[in-house]
Amino acid sequence: MKQKRIAIFGSTGSIGKQTLEVIAAHPELFVAEILTAQSNDSLLIEQALQFLPNIVVIGDLTKYANVKKALEGKPIKVFAGVEALEQVAAMDCYDFMMAGIVGFAGLKPTLNAVENGKAIGLANKETLVVAGDIVMRKAKEFKAAIIPVDSEHSAIFQCLVGEDSNPIEKIILTASGGPFLGKKPNFLVNVKRDHALQHPNWSMGAKISIDSATLMNKGLEMIEAKWLFNLAPHQIKVVVHSQSIIHSMVQFEDGSIKAQMGLPDMKLPIQYAMAFPQRLKNNFPRYLFDKPNQLNFDEPDLRTFRNLYLATEALRKGGNTPCVLNAANEIAVYAFLRNRIGFLDMTELIEKTLEKIEYIADPSLDDYFETDGEARNFAASLIQL
Ligand code: NAD
Ligand code: MG
Repeated sequence: MKQKRIAIFGSTGSIGKQTLEVIAAHPELFVAEILTAQSNDSLLIEQALQFLPNIVVIGDLTKYANVKKALEGKPIKVFAGVEALEQVAAMDCYDFMMAGIVGFAGLKPTLNAVENGKAIGLANKETLVVAGDIVMRKAKEFKAAIIPVDSEHSAIFQCLVGEDSNPIEKIILTASGGPFLGKKPNFLVNVKRDHALQHPNWSMGAKISIDSATLMNKGLEMIEAKWLFNLAPHQIKVVVHSQSIIHSMVQFEDGSIKAQMGLPDMKLPIQYAMAFPQRLKNNFPRYLFDKPNQLNFDEPDLRTFRNLYLATEALRKGGNTPCVLNAANEIAVYAFLRNRIGFLDMTELIEKTLEKIEYIADPSLDDYFETDGEARNFAASLIQL
């Protein structure tokens, strides 16, 4: 394999840091070419000094002078701001983008990489939730390979290798159930941020951790799967599997089910996407069958975790509805993280926003940006009341 030049969008996040670990473990195969971060300038500087990329971008303009000064004398170009982020994604100097920005903010840079015909490791699921139709259409047009990094979608992708002409009957997305599996609304009403951030199986960024606690994450993943694998809503089933050993499954038309398994470790799907179609040897801990073990499966509790119900409805409705869902959810999650609203208030906020924003059946990219802005403003106005 020729050495790949990697652009990590969101290098200071959970996905970004693990991507750098994979690069550090395989210096003959990967080199860090571009690193970007929103506000964590000290970590970005530290990463830049260690990996000596060609370019770094800091989103927050007020941090530019600090980053520039710290990297003085190094062969590293320093840029700042949203436009720089988008322009750098359109550059030719890299081969593979790790799309590790969180939220709607990842859409534009990822779309630029798609239009640039790059290979993309897609962690930023919100990109497909918001504008999956446009992103997948453009990926085809510009021959940009989108390789999923989300563990469930990586699992499905891996199950589909070698099955090109075999149609999918359905996919089974596994959900850990998050930290509040089995709990009821009378418990959830008093839940606080620190408890909600403690995921039993995965260590992740704050936003996705809350999404996992509300099961919105699984809803976003259903929509992500629809676009990645060209599925109808009825072909996507969610099953609670609290051990997170089976990362997801594909059922084919003969009834046969393929699963991808392993210990929960994001470095595996990250490395798989980066090296695809090759599998790289590593020393990650292995799942062992040398003692009695049980894998459990259960139905999700849609009455308690209503975010998953709302997302399933948005998946069915299509148009700009998933975009509204995503925007309201981002506002709700950050309000919950700042202790402004309670755990169950998040669902209420999303539901009211879904009722308010006008439906567009076949949105353009501009429509998506407008919908996102309107939905955010409306959701935020509910919090200020
Ligand atoms: P994180 O919060 O740990 O990191 C987010 C990164 O994005 C940081 O580097 C931050 O600087 C950057 N960022 C944040 N806001 C930005 C903005 N407005 N503009 C530009 N950059 C910005 O998040 P994470 O857990 O690494 O998740 C990243 C994405 O990957 C999310 O979409 C998440 O759903 C997805 N994902 C993460 C995991 C995981 O294990 N962490 C697993 C599956 C999918
Ligand atoms: Mg996932």
